[in-house]
Amino acid sequence: MNALHFAKRICALLLLLALLSALAGCGQSGDESAAPEAIEPKGKVYYSYFDTVSYVYDYAGDSAERFDDRSAEVSLILQEYHQLFDIYHEYAGVVNLCTLNKAAGGEALSLDPRLIDFLLTARDMYDLTGGEMNVMLGAVLRLWHDCREAASTDPEHASIPTEEQLKEAEGHTGIELLEIDAEKGTARITDPLASIDVGALGKGYAVERAAEYLESVGAEGYVLNVGGNIRCIGARPDGSGWVTAIRNPDRAAEDFALRIRISDTACVTSGIYERYFTVDGVRYHHIIDKDTLNPAAYYESLTVITRDSGLADALSTALFCMPWEESVRLAESLEGVEALWIFPDGEQRSTSGFAAYAAEA
Ligand code: ADP
Ligand code: MG
Repeated sequence: MNALHFAKRICALLLLLALLSALAGCGQSGDESAAPEAIEPKGKVYYSYFDTVSYVYDYAGDSAERFDDRSAEVSLILQEYHQLFDIYHEYAGVVNLCTLNKAAGGEALSLDPRLIDFLLTARDMYDLTGGEMNVMLGAVLRLWHDCREAASTDPEHASIPTEEQLKEAEGHTGIELLEIDAEKGTARITDPLASIDVGALGKGYAVERAAEYLESVGAEGYVLNVGGNIRCIGARPDGSGWVTAIRNPDRAAEDFALRIRISDTACVTSGIYERYFTVDGVRYHHIIDKDTLNPAAYYESLTVITRDSGLADALSTALFCMPWEESVRLAESLEGVEALWIFPDGEQRSTSGFAAYAAEA
């Protein structure tokens, strides 16, 4: 099944992260009280959030009790955002995005302040990316989602949305159809056929809130990974970063395009291999270009490194949907943002500051 396959791939990636990190720590002692290579990283894994696998790692040698407390709080934060952002299910006592979508065309709803903050951020991300990352693309995304789901149960009869369906749906994707009253704490979707989909931003945003919590309690040497949205809190105890690898989109999971070393920052990749289905031998992935209403065709993967994991998530989707000149111009214009583009022929291009993250072989 798809989800399991996905989980396995993430596991492989994380194992690699752990392995490479262990290697990177070797031979770097210096502090007689705690030789870093002596510290066994602790980890927890959760399967219930955002339709993916989530990991919390502690490389700083926290006591088992403290790690349990901190990872439990991270898990709770992810769970709460998972419920708030879910567009397919509602939960007892929670007004979430599913509720907001159902109420489209009706009255404004009072929302949890966290949801209001999120919606305001989503609108900022729309502005920042010239509408390439648009949470109001729900009507179009649903057509693709339904075809993908149908293909997973009946691959023989897999099909893609028709041009007419896509064009019709496009008429219900304006960002202005989402009205937010921050003062009153309410929001409403004005068009009954419009809907919100936060797949491009929700995970990264939630990870950033969890990272904020860890920072607020003085945690250092933690790594969060929620479905490939990686956020490092501080650095390893010896001050070095974690080595992780960016997958080669075309090849087996063991083959990596590039290794990077990161600390105190987020790293998010959007790729054609994350979720897709096949019709008549053609692969259709899940990142949709607003200009064609079809899967974006410029790159095979797009990696963003920046401190805020929500920004990294939004940009990884948006830059993926932009032609090279525009994409690199936007990335270079943003302070503290670095990006790596992998093209269909395997060519790699990056922002001028990306090389600083390259890990020595
Ligand atoms: P992933 O979550 O698989 O790591 P992304 O962060 O790129 O990948 O988000 C992809 C998801 O975002 C899609 O599954 C869909 O729900 C949504 N999405 C796809 N294209 C867009 C877009 N242009 N704007 C906003 N959301 C999008
Ligand atoms: Mg994204």
